[in-house]
Amino acid sequence: MGEQEQQAGWSFETRAIHEGQPPDPTTGAVVVPISLSTTFAQEAVGEHRGYEYSRSGNPTRTALETCVASLESARHGLAFASGLAAEDNVLRLVRPGRRVLLGNDAYGGTFRLISKVWGPLGVAHTAVDLTDVDALAADWPDDTDMVWLETPTNPLLSCIDIERVAEVAHTHGALVVVDNTFATPYLQQPITLGADIVVHSATKYLGGHSDVVGGFLAVDDDSIAERLRFTQNAAGAVPSPFDCYLVLRGVKTLAVRMDRHCQNARAVVDLLVGHPKVDRVLYPQLPDHPGHAAAARQMRDFGGMVSFTVRGGEAAARAVAAATEVFTLAESLGAVESLIEHPGAMTHASAAGSPLEVPADLVRLSVGLEHADDLVADLEQALEHG
Ligand SMILES: *Cc1c(COP(=O)(O)O)cnc(C)c1O
Repeated sequence: MGEQEQQAGWSFETRAIHEGQPPDPTTGAVVVPISLSTTFAQEAVGEHRGYEYSRSGNPTRTALETCVASLESARHGLAFASGLAAEDNVLRLVRPGRRVLLGNDAYGGTFRLISKVWGPLGVAHTAVDLTDVDALAADWPDDTDMVWLETPTNPLLSCIDIERVAEVAHTHGALVVVDNTFATPYLQQPITLGADIVVHSATKYLGGHSDVVGGFLAVDDDSIAERLRFTQNAAGAVPSPFDCYLVLRGVKTLAVRMDRHCQNARAVVDLLVGHPKVDRVLYPQLPDHPGHAAAARQMRDFGGMVSFTVRGGEAAARAVAAATEVFTLAESLGAVESLIEHPGAMTHASAAGSPLEVPADLVRLSVGLEHADDLVADLEQALEHG
């Protein structure tokens, strides 16, 4: 398992609750106040206490940025209105005429942003198999500015060796961006493995309760952070103070939630493996999973996402997804309630016909925090009757 506690002093769980969140100096409030003020009084012209205007900086946002940066073992954190807003900020670092290499089963929205928004603006992209780093190193496109990877990936849960990709990318002067949404900083810290920028959809595990859309960037390098901070303010895709509060509240319980997500996922995997209606089970803990070695090396545990293919093709997959009662049929992931979906027709519909198209018989589970027995029984009946 990867080394998780990089920072001296407080451990992960303690930092999640206290980092950037000291009791309020004027009232003693133990919860960071939701600072709604859009402007801040100055003592003299240009003399202030660090805040001028709430797009540029907001105390509730600062608390969130400080806390999650620390959890990612990064010196800088930047919060955004959504995961894609955070990604858009990162893609502004790519020069027109240059290229982004991205994993060939990246999140559909990421692929859409790179291909349909940044493509027409002159940013080229190539979808590559990042599990084969040697092939990538041997055939490296010279105009590459950035490598964009997810691990585990969505929805196939492939695992990419972050250290190895960073090594190759850095010899060619490219930046390495890791979307850490599925693993969270509790299970994996890409900065410590050589990544330059960590991206989150805070909508998922960081928030953890399906009640806030948010994004986050963690960066260690001062000059990259400065460029991203400039764009965060200049383009203005910042989260509201209330959204920052919700993510910060979610993060306090991240460690205990992730432990239980992983435990429940294992119970579900135990049911699915060898089930007569199930063809393949995709979970990085399984020894026959192609990403098992990389996951075991760089992750603390294997996460709460499980995908599987169903015997009987697309119709059977759709039927199972519609037949559960505890698992809710819905997009998104990473929250307390268990969700089931059909990626081909739902989250990954925009990837149809592209190199990122997903198998039609695939079902994806976001295993939540209900009792494991209820989750297993629900899937059992859905496989039976679906
Ligand atoms: C949801 C998601 C995103 C996009 O984040 P939003 O908050 O929906 O904008 C990016 N990457 C991954 C892996 C995701 O699951």
